[in-house]
Amino acid sequence: MLSVSEAIKQLVANIKPATAIESLSVLDSLGRILAADICAAVDVPPADNSAMDGYAFCYAEAAANQFTLPLSQRIAAGTAPQPLASNTVARIFTGAEIPAGANTVAMQENCIESNGIVEVDTGVKAQGNVRPRGQDIQAGQVILTAGTKIRAQEMGLLSSIGIAMVEVFKPLRVAIFSTGDELVEPGIPLKPGQIYNSNRATLIGLIQSLGMTPVDLGTVADSPEATDAVLIKAADMGDIIISAGGASVGEEDYVKDAVAKAGELDFWKVAIKPGKPLAFGHVANKPFIGLPGNPASVFVTFMILARPFLLASQGLADIAPRFFKAQAQFAKSGEGREVYLRARLQNGTVEIYPNQSSGVLASASWGDVFVRQARGQSIDAGDLVDVLSYSQ
Ligand code: AMP
Ligand code: MG
Repeated sequence: MLSVSEAIKQLVANIKPATAIESLSVLDSLGRILAADICAAVDVPPADNSAMDGYAFCYAEAAANQFTLPLSQRIAAGTAPQPLASNTVARIFTGAEIPAGANTVAMQENCIESNGIVEVDTGVKAQGNVRPRGQDIQAGQVILTAGTKIRAQEMGLLSSIGIAMVEVFKPLRVAIFSTGDELVEPGIPLKPGQIYNSNRATLIGLIQSLGMTPVDLGTVADSPEATDAVLIKAADMGDIIISAGGASVGEEDYVKDAVAKAGELDFWKVAIKPGKPLAFGHVANKPFIGLPGNPASVFVTFMILARPFLLASQGLADIAPRFFKAQAQFAKSGEGREVYLRARLQNGTVEIYPNQSSGVLASASWGDVFVRQARGQSIDAGDLVDVLSYSQ
């Protein structure tokens, strides 16, 4: 059986990197992946400016005049200053440009202005309270590289260098379907033998949370014909295909045979719990991932295995999960597979949901982190364990 890390490596080695690009307003770019490096054409700030409301002057001149000089101009933010007349000070406000000839600002609380003469703060340091040109960004600097995910702070950073439009990858279309004759859509009363389809909603939400577009092909009956047909449709409508259920070895599991028939199947078992054998292959050249049917297994295998594959396919450069350590509040004996326990983080300690069964989706909803239990690792209360936030 492949280990989880080997499986992720193999999956990621099979990506077809995103090539479809679109140009978007920075204001609409939240969560998107940059398709090109961003190089600044300007300095930020574009000129030396004042960090304080106060008075701007040449430090050497002030020092030579007992820090008392006449006022010669007033500079508000947004106005272009005149060069500072020698041996004078300028009234200046936060964000206003420092006039040529000045190099220091004293804050107004420490200055006395009377009849056009200003006694400036004698304690100010030369160059004090000046934000130098280019202190944030310098023209020519690559501020963001292709493959970076745009968060709010990147939207601001792009705007700060005057960029209005960015090239980003088009969202991948992920075609999804659930298999199972027992499945019924929410809103319809259950008949004997039926259960509600939860994987459909979980998958739609997970795909949307990655900034991708779910292409929902609904529920598919447990039959070879229906499975063959949905795969053709999925390959036509999606860039990537993900199914839930019907992928294991039962007599009513048609997914892997249908994939092998329509395309090719690299079927592998991954040593992950929860999670049955996970099917990976291609249909009409579109990557296919067959997830198990149990709802908690869908959540775990999507988050741990499908997610890095999807993100890498979408062009994200850094897909490494960010594990950190926290203290276990529970004890658990070791297992033959790598276990992803659904857990809750509180004050640096971590607690697991009492029922970790693959059919218990409440375990995923209850908490906000996974605890990774390595193969064979037994955990005692108080141990430092590997934790991964759902959002990472
Ligand atoms: P399977 O992998 O198809 O054998 O399904 C494994 C278990 O997960 C069975 O108990 C199914 O009833 C259940 N299951 C499969 N698909 C779904 C779904 N879409 N929503 C809820 N439960 C499901
Ligand atoms: Mg089934």
